[in-house]
Amino acid sequence: MRPASTVVVGAGVIGASVAWHLASRGARDVVVLDAAPGPGGGSTAAATGGFRAQYATAINVRLSLMARGKLLRFVDEIGADPGYLPAGYLWIATDAAELHALRTARAVQHAEGLAEAVDVGPGEVARLQPAVSTDGIVGGAYCPTDGFIKPRAIQDGYREAAVRLGVRFAWDERVVGFERDASGRVDGVRTARGTIACDAVVNAAGAWAGEVAALAEVDLPVVPLRRQMAATRPTRAVASDAPMTLYCGDGFHFRERDGRVILSWPTPGNAADPFDTRVEPPWLEAVAEKKDARIPALRDVPLDSSACWAGLYEMSPDRHVLLGPAPSLPNFYLVNGSSGHGVMHAPALGQLAAEIVLDGTATSLDVAVLAPNRFALGRAIAAPEVL
Ligand SMILES: Cc1cc2nc3c(=O)[nH]c(=O)nc-3n(C[C@H](O)[C@H](O)[C@H](O)COP(=O)(O)OP(=O)(O)OC[C@H]3O[C@@H](n4cnc5c(N)ncnc54)[C@H](O)[C@@H]3O)c2cc1C
Repeated sequence: MRPASTVVVGAGVIGASVAWHLASRGARDVVVLDAAPGPGGGSTAAATGGFRAQYATAINVRLSLMARGKLLRFVDEIGADPGYLPAGYLWIATDAAELHALRTARAVQHAEGLAEAVDVGPGEVARLQPAVSTDGIVGGAYCPTDGFIKPRAIQDGYREAAVRLGVRFAWDERVVGFERDASGRVDGVRTARGTIACDAVVNAAGAWAGEVAALAEVDLPVVPLRRQMAATRPTRAVASDAPMTLYCGDGFHFRERDGRVILSWPTPGNAADPFDTRVEPPWLEAVAEKKDARIPALRDVPLDSSACWAGLYEMSPDRHVLLGPAPSLPNFYLVNGSSGHGVMHAPALGQLAAEIVLDGTATSLDVAVLAPNRFALGRAIAAPEVL
């Protein structure tokens, strides 16, 4: 097999973004390998399509603002429409502790320049999202520049633009091992079809990144977590440009998409089989109950079990991405553990990863806090569960 400068493992939105950013910087012979038979085999195809900069940590706000700038330039830079629709994100608080968490996060957001993120009272919640009941709501947070994106359009846009720059994508190419040179660096990637010699590897294998890293004897604390999504029958009860609406207390959230309302409620997943992506009927019943209690406009709109689905988040211990060389293997780069925010951050992460591979360090943003060795050094990022 033809040698590569860099092999990217995984052709999801992050692998495609990394590949395009490498090629756009002039890197030649970039190869992307994916185990799936074609594009869309991973979590990217399962994503809801939310975009937000309302986070609780400075680094996540910065990644979002960098990504937002790139989404606004996406048509010019990539030649495709990423579907960015600033419909807003509306967080709902039902007690003082939740309100406090939102306000604390907002101070971080304002310090990072996200001036448009604001406090809202129950009346404003009702105006922004008329479908919800205001019973028990004490306030919330809203940012009008948050909103929606199209995960597959971003993934396909990066992939097609990368191909135009000479990047090779190979499907049905599950990575099964890595070769090392005498100094211990990775110098080859093994698949069932053979070995590709390379100078560097980027692990972009999403929820499977821990398994891929283990093949290189790299201990990567990224694990899969099932996220189930419910969908209603077709309805116009929620406007297509109404904000993503989330309840701080239990993470229940919903938005309109493609003529239905899609809803989710985070649960711990299937501990016995972390890669399980079945939708559990009792979960659907619980979501239907929450829907009816919180969204009167949807009481007469049943869920459609044939339109529901589940996919995998890629969780890191502090719910922030690990970005940089593996501590024990300097030419094995990690872009893993976005913890459910990988689509929205992919434009930024691809650029930053390309800088790290080609320049030895990220120059567009200081990403030292995301260093993969932070856990070993006792420097996990502190962030509240909310946001
Ligand atoms: C229900 C749900 C809703 C979500 N909503 C949002 C959202 O609103 N906004 C947001 O930003 N994020 C969201 N996410 C998270 C988002 O989908 C992920 O963060 C993102 O898709 C990760 O991208 P990726 O490229 O790393 O992974 P993936 O898209 O999973 O790509 C990884 C690829 O690696 C390949 N692979 C795995 N093992 C191997 C191997 N051994 N060899 C070769 N290839 C391999 C897989 O086939 C796959 O194609 C959501 C996720 C889910 C499940």
